[in-house]
Amino acid sequence: MLDADFFRRWMTATAASVDREADRLTDLDSPIGDADHGSNLQRGFTAVRATLEKEGPGTPGAVLALAGRQLISTVGGASGPLYGTLLRRTGKALGDAAEVSDEQFAEALRTGVEAVRTLGGAAPGDKTMIDALVPAVDALGESFAAARDAARAGAEATTPLQARKGRASYLGERSVGHQDPGAASAALLIAALVEAAGE
Ligand code: ADP
Ligand code: MG
Ligand code: MG
Repeated sequence: MLDADFFRRWMTATAASVDREADRLTDLDSPIGDADHGSNLQRGFTAVRATLEKEGPGTPGAVLALAGRQLISTVGGASGPLYGTLLRRTGKALGDAAEVSDEQFAEALRTGVEAVRTLGGAAPGDKTMIDALVPAVDALGESFAAARDAARAGAEATTPLQARKGRASYLGERSVGHQDPGAASAALLIAALVEAAGE
């Protein structure tokens, strides 16, 4: 079973990973965006870490809902409301249970990813974070490690795609040949689950 501490560790591990990879994320956002994805997420997850420490939410759902709200209020870019919605809606789907099963979490994350699709209007293949999140959710029933590998493969598979959503879509065909920064950061978020589980 997964308790509030597990979800806190997930957010802390994501924050650490975003800190380590911020330059790479910003570099990916340079040719097909505005070179701020690493700093956007660094600001956001630093605030998430701080607010979780300060407020100490006691259930899985409350941890994710608070993290999501914090991302929405601290990240100016497109990714803030999108990741914020992902975590908020996943948290909401977990309700107020003190512990949730792997299956309940997988189902809740699927609800969160659907909310991101509704908010941003992106489908798989549009070269966005959705291209990492959808395969991750599909593999989550198997294991966190399988989800991590699926998310990473999904992120890498965005390179040959032409962007149809977000800032990169303004470039049309010139967006081809670059990995989507949001798909790369979504792969980090999913990889942090493996760390949180201590696997
Ligand atoms: P901004 O583009 O406002 O500078 P970021 O650089 O932080 O914001 O985030 C860009 C990432 O957000 C993209 O790489 C993409 O993965 C994701 N993104 C942008 N628009 C959408 C959308 N409509 N649906 C899903 N993801 C999106
Ligand atoms: Mg950007
Ligand atoms: Mg921006």
